[in-house]
Amino acid sequence: MLEKSKSVLAYQATIFDRLESGVQSYARCFPTTFVRARGAEVWDAEGRRFVDFLAGAGSLNYGHNNPIFKEALISYIEGDGITHSLDLHTGAKEHFLNTLNDFILKPRGLDYVVQFTGPTGTNAVEAAIKLARKVTGRTNIISFTNGFHGCTLGSVALTGNKYFRDASGVPMQNATSMPYDGYFGDGVDTIAYLEMMLSDPSSGVSDPAAVILETVQGEGGLRAARTEWLRRLQALCRARNILLIVDDIQAGCGRTGSFFSFEPAGIVPDIVTLSKSLSAFGLPMAIVLINRSIDCWKPGEHNGTFRGNNHAFVTAATAIEHYWSSASFTESIAQKSRHLGERLQRLVDRFPSDLCEVRGRGMMRGIRCIDPAKAAMISAKAYENGLIIERSGPHDEVIKCLMPLTIENEQFDEGLDILGSAFETVCSAQNVRSINGDPAMIFAAE
Ligand SMILES: *Cc1c(COP(=O)(O)O)cnc(C)c1O
Repeated sequence: MLEKSKSVLAYQATIFDRLESGVQSYARCFPTTFVRARGAEVWDAEGRRFVDFLAGAGSLNYGHNNPIFKEALISYIEGDGITHSLDLHTGAKEHFLNTLNDFILKPRGLDYVVQFTGPTGTNAVEAAIKLARKVTGRTNIISFTNGFHGCTLGSVALTGNKYFRDASGVPMQNATSMPYDGYFGDGVDTIAYLEMMLSDPSSGVSDPAAVILETVQGEGGLRAARTEWLRRLQALCRARNILLIVDDIQAGCGRTGSFFSFEPAGIVPDIVTLSKSLSAFGLPMAIVLINRSIDCWKPGEHNGTFRGNNHAFVTAATAIEHYWSSASFTESIAQKSRHLGERLQRLVDRFPSDLCEVRGRGMMRGIRCIDPAKAAMISAKAYENGLIIERSGPHDEVIKCLMPLTIENEQFDEGLDILGSAFETVCSAQNVRSINGDPAMIFAAE
C-alpha cells in the first residue's frame, strides 16, 4: 500500500520526531495527529474519524468531552474558581469530598479517609506503600506476576514487566513477586502457595507490610482474580496483620461494572488507589483511600505541589452525582458488558486455532491471541479501518477493549464490527509473516 507508506514517511518528518523524546509509545501505534474528540469518537488533523476503544488507557470511562462535565467546568472557570491551591481547602474540594462520601463511600459502608497525592496513578501507589511501611514498620511488599503499578521506583518494583523494570537503572528492592490467580493454570492454588511462603520461617520471604494487587490486571493481560481467591487473600492478610492494598486505578470507576472493582467479592481493602477515570474528564487526579484507623500521616509528611486539581474536583464531583447516584449506570454497564462478552466469545469460537480465550471482567475485556505478532497485526488493521485499540500482556498478545462505558450502542457495534473484520483478515490469512509488532512495518510490508 504505497499511500500508507508515504504517510508513514511524512509522519517521520514531523516535530514529534525531531523534538519529542524516543520514549513515546502509543504514538508509534497510532501515527497521526489527533485534534478533536467527543464521546467515543476521535478525529485527526486530516479529518479522519476513529472509534476509540483505547479511551486514554482507561482514563476516559465517561467518554471524551462529556458535555455534562464540560459545562460544569466551563462555568467554574468563568466564575474564576480556584485553579491551584496546594492542599488548601476550596469549595471545589469540599463539593468533591461531599459527593464522594454521600454517593460512593457511605452507601457502601466504607470508612475511609482521603489522601490527595500528586496527580498521577504512580503517585498514589507510592503514597500507599509508604504509608503501609510506616504503619507496620516492615519494608517488604508482596505484589503479583503480571501486575502493573506505575513507573516510579517504588511502584515499578511492584510491577512485573521486565521492560519497565530494566529501565529503572537501580536494583528493584523491598518487594516480592508472587503468582497471581491462575498463573500456573487451573490446577495450582496460588493462595495456598502464598500462605506457605508466609508461614515457613525458612521460605526466604520477609514479612510484608502489605500485599498490593489489581483485581483485573490492566497492563498485564486482563487476567481477572476470582471472587473466592480475593476473599481468601483478604483472610490471609488479616490473619497476619498484612495490609491489603487494591490498586483500582484502571479497574475502578465503573470499568468492571461497579464503582470499585472489589465490590462483588465483598472484600474491604485497607488501602485503595484511584486515578485514571476518577476526574472523569481526562484531567490528572489521584487519591488514596485509607482505612481511618491506619491514617498515621503527620502533617506534610508526604507532600507535593499538585495535590488537588480543582478543575478535576469539579468534573469528578459532577460525574459521581450524575452517574453514581442511582443504579441506572451500573445496569447499563452490565448490559454492555454482556454484549461485549458475547461478541468477543463469538470471535474466539470462530478462530480457535489463532485465539485462546476471552479474558477480563465487565468492560475491561479482551482476547488473548496465540501469536503476539497476529495481535499486533489485528490492532494495526483495525487502526487502518478507523478503530483505535491497544494490546496488553507480557508479549502484547491480548487485544484489549477499553471503550468508554458511555459509548452509544451504534458506535459500540461499529467498533466491534471493525475489530471483527480485522480478526477476519489476519486470522484467516495463510502463512502470515511474523513482523515483530511494529505497525509501521506492517504498513510498509503491505
Ligand atoms: C495506569 C496505572 C498505574 C499508573 O498510573 P500513572 O498515571 O500512569 O502513573 C498504576 N496502577 C494501575 C493499575 C494502572 O493501570
